[in-house]
Amino acid sequence: MTLTEEKRAPERWKAEWAELYSEVVTNGLCTGCAACIIACPHDVLGYRTEDGAYKPFHLEEELGPGGCTHGLRGCTSCTRACPRFRNWETEADNFLFGRSRRPEEQPGMARSVILARSTDPEFASEGQDGGVVSAILTWCLEHDRIDAALVSTLEGDGTSWKTVPTVARTRAEVLAAAGSRYTYSANTLAYGKAIAGGAERLALVGMGCQTSAPVVMKARKVGKVGRRLGLTIGLMCSKTFDDSIFEEFFEARYGIRRQDITKINIKGVFQVWLRDGSYREVPLKEGHAWTREGCKACPDFAAEHADISAGGIGELSGWTLTVIRSEQGQEVIDEMLAGGALESRPGDDDPKALDLMRKLSTASRRRWPDFAPVEPRLGVPPRRA
Ligand SMILES: Cc1cc2nc3c(=O)[nH]c(=O)nc-3n(C[C@H](O)[C@H](O)[C@H](O)COP(=O)(O)OP(=O)(O)OC[C@H]3O[C@@H](n4cnc5c(N)ncnc54)[C@H](O)[C@@H]3O)c2cc1C
Ligand code: SF4
Ligand code: SF4
Repeated sequence: MTLTEEKRAPERWKAEWAELYSEVVTNGLCTGCAACIIACPHDVLGYRTEDGAYKPFHLEEELGPGGCTHGLRGCTSCTRACPRFRNWETEADNFLFGRSRRPEEQPGMARSVILARSTDPEFASEGQDGGVVSAILTWCLEHDRIDAALVSTLEGDGTSWKTVPTVARTRAEVLAAAGSRYTYSANTLAYGKAIAGGAERLALVGMGCQTSAPVVMKARKVGKVGRRLGLTIGLMCSKTFDDSIFEEFFEARYGIRRQDITKINIKGVFQVWLRDGSYREVPLKEGHAWTREGCKACPDFAAEHADISAGGIGELSGWTLTVIRSEQGQEVIDEMLAGGALESRPGDDDPKALDLMRKLSTASRRRWPDFAPVEPRLGVPPRRA
């Protein structure tokens, strides 16, 4: 090997669980996305949800919580999968877009932004906004693009409001998962069930913390887990709330019991629809005290590495603000529009929504701590005095 070749050789990736544990899991950067868990080839990582933790932990106690015998022998899958480990943003940007984000691209890179809604009345009424996410999943299932989708449903008859990562293989299963819940659901955890059921080509629906994972996995060559998560649909997200918000806030302060709620939306306030047909509005600001720990340092509002990102910040109700990022995302949306499964209007029809997306993206980036790699904070203007 010549000296020049030696210089060019990429550094071997050696980081393992010990580094993930100290730099992400116990350092305030872990979102609970569970990517490390599904990427672990030795199945030695579990997932803790008690007391609102939403964190991975090591199942073997031999080396203490921060040690892994497989890591010592050279296994690096968990750090390769983690979308908060070291310079994840630039690695994912370069893999997906062939360049890193420019400072002014606070909501990430995109091909186009449109307002879209499903033309199918069932998706339009069951969906949180325009039913676009559910329409895309169903179209991809019916057009043999995916075998299954990793989504989120509610436990039992839904009255507990406990989210469950779930596999959807049919239109009915996609519809049963439609709508938004504002507590955390690590949809990645449905991966094992989907594979056990014979699925190979998967779509992952989730907030940015989850939809960056497949890109990071591919960029860092995790292997088949990353390859199987072939389509990602990101949900714009400022935060999720602890499950305790139902008793300690909605019920204690406003007398709203979780079992009486049929739908929640967030549009500057908590909009709450109840089983008796009534509707209530609850101040959003008061709910901030129940922000989930894993969201407090998250810099990604707009799900910047999803093939398609979807949000409900539009002024026009019943439309999903749809950010098309990848070539694959563009292809799917174009075919759906051409076939009449979706209808659209230009994103510029709603300039306030575009402005809000930029503002909320900047606000999220401000949360990324100074001790972590600087890239997610690039271009973030200093706070006004
Ligand atoms: C926790 C959370 C916070 C959000 N915050 C914002 C925000 O601040 N601003 C904004 O513009 N948009 C936000 N959204 C996105 C918005 O609520 C809609 O999901 C989006 O506009 C798509 O609407 P739709 O009608 O096209 O999707 P639908 O067709 O209703 O499909 C929604 C999909 O999201 C999945 N899902 C629902 N809840 C969860 C969950 N908790 N975790 C993972 N997956 C879930 C469902 O399984 C379904 O597949 C948030 C969504 C969630 C889940
Ligand atoms: S951010 Fe996700 S991948 Fe990283 S340690 Fe936490 S759960 Fe694992
Ligand atoms: S704010 Fe949303 S995207 Fe960020 S960690 Fe929380 S749930 Fe994930």
